[in-house]
Amino acid sequence: MQTTAQDAPTKANQVTHLESLDPATGEVIGRFEATPPENLPLIVERAREAQKKWAARPLRERCALLRRLRDVLFARRAEIAEVVTRESGKPRIEALFSDVTVAIDTAGHYARCAPRLLRPERVPHHNLAVKAKSAWLEYEPYGVIGIISPWNYPFAIPVGEIVPAVVAGNAVVLKPSELTPWCGALVGEIFEQAGFPRDLVQVVQGGGEVGAALVDARPDKIIFTGSVVTGRRVAEACARHLIPSVLELGGKDAMIVLADADLDVASSAAVWGSFTNCGQACVSVERIYVERGVAEKFTDLCVAKTQRLKLGHGLDADTEVGPMIRESQVARVEEQLRDARARGARVLSGGQRRADLGPCFFEPTLVTGVDHSMRLMQEETFGPVLAISAVENAGEAVRLANDSEFGLAASVWTRDTRRGKGIASRLKSGAVMVNDALSYFGICEAPHGGRGASGWGHTHSRLGLMELVQVKYVDVDRLARWPKSWWFGYDQELSVAADAFLEAMFAPGWRRRLASLRGALKTVFRGHRI
Ligand code: NAD
Repeated sequence: MQTTAQDAPTKANQVTHLESLDPATGEVIGRFEATPPENLPLIVERAREAQKKWAARPLRERCALLRRLRDVLFARRAEIAEVVTRESGKPRIEALFSDVTVAIDTAGHYARCAPRLLRPERVPHHNLAVKAKSAWLEYEPYGVIGIISPWNYPFAIPVGEIVPAVVAGNAVVLKPSELTPWCGALVGEIFEQAGFPRDLVQVVQGGGEVGAALVDARPDKIIFTGSVVTGRRVAEACARHLIPSVLELGGKDAMIVLADADLDVASSAAVWGSFTNCGQACVSVERIYVERGVAEKFTDLCVAKTQRLKLGHGLDADTEVGPMIRESQVARVEEQLRDARARGARVLSGGQRRADLGPCFFEPTLVTGVDHSMRLMQEETFGPVLAISAVENAGEAVRLANDSEFGLAASVWTRDTRRGKGIASRLKSGAVMVNDALSYFGICEAPHGGRGASGWGHTHSRLGLMELVQVKYVDVDRLARWPKSWWFGYDQELSVAADAFLEAMFAPGWRRRLASLRGALKTVFRGHRI
């Protein structure tokens, strides 16, 4: 099959299979063959061969295949949502709204926009000396893109990155998370069904060792989405091989609630923004800074809404919060809560495991009385915990929001949109939403990318597409038979003319510039040249 590549013999101590688990029950729901790490050079080589033919195909053909992909995704949407829910634990509605919608929309978006976005772009020249040139930028594919993805949006993230890579003329080797191999296999299967050529989109299965082997097989660029710890390792390996990378890492997103905000709407957003996907979104709301005058009312609303949330298996239609992905993640959240409590934080709601529901269930939890000495306010939590802090004013809220090594996304809530925009421009963050949160991740035109520990580069949008091409500047001189003024044949006459040219270009005042024009022209019409 085109999508999995594993022909070499495996070593005795190697992982040969990955188990897919339902995080709600802990049951094994699938087994997938692991790719031996030593196969990666051959797999990347095959991708390289496929890419050459693919890049030679007209862009309109590549766009036509994206439209087919969009149609296949749409036709299989129910199955995709079910696999995402079973393997990641999120409610089926969230699988539909996030993973499935983003995948379909991305395919359609780039099919429509790639011809415009990848069209060569004219470069006008302002300098008199080069007016006879016409020039443009061409966007060429890198070759093979290695994509390493996490488990939390196991369909939307890889598809959202593969689509722009292939439309730009690249081949892709995808290494999905070892926690969601079923989703990874499904991604490969769907590209195959849509008719993408053999070896153009290959999926390799395995853990960190397979991800590391992918980087070491030296594709032409790595798009990595995952934790800061792994991102640093990937960046180091890329640096060793001089491979460029995009790093989409963790976040500690702040929400600022001003006193004039619609508190009912803002509290619903806070609860959804913190507990969707059980808090396991890179752009989850993890910290709220609310102006003191409305803090009590806002917090009460959040508590009441949190307590109404229905926990359960993601396939139950009315489930709002599913399980966390693994028990080890639950333990991490408990550890942060222990630290916060020891330093004076108060848990207003939740805070307990729900072993009665399954091994990875944890109650949506609201905490106040927090400060930045706590791990809960510094480290990414990546679980269903929302910390609320009352602040004196917007200035303090901005200062605290910016007091983080992360800088992925943030939101501001106010009825005064002008003030909201002003605060947005003061936040150290890759994206800021005013009166909404998280949803920009599903907007095809919105670039996604962080600052500081949240990573570098972009995915999605025009900027994400530009990460997947190399820019070439092409320059055609219309005066093919005219030697250039600055070539050899240096003498006193050229020296004087060069000075006149600088006067004509840069002297203060038009009169002085015009006066030098004649002398400057001598740089063009000169006799002796080599
Ligand atoms: P992770 O870092 O544990 O793993 C991510 C991927 O890297 C997996 O496929 C893993 O197998 C692979 N990997 C592990 N070691 C590797 C190595 N040495 N070399 C190459 N690849 C290696 O992250 P995770 O637990 O899967 O995902 C959760 C994290 O991802 C959170 O921190 C979350 O914030 C972040 N995330 C970020 C974004 C974003 O767009 N910024 C989106 C989703 C998730």
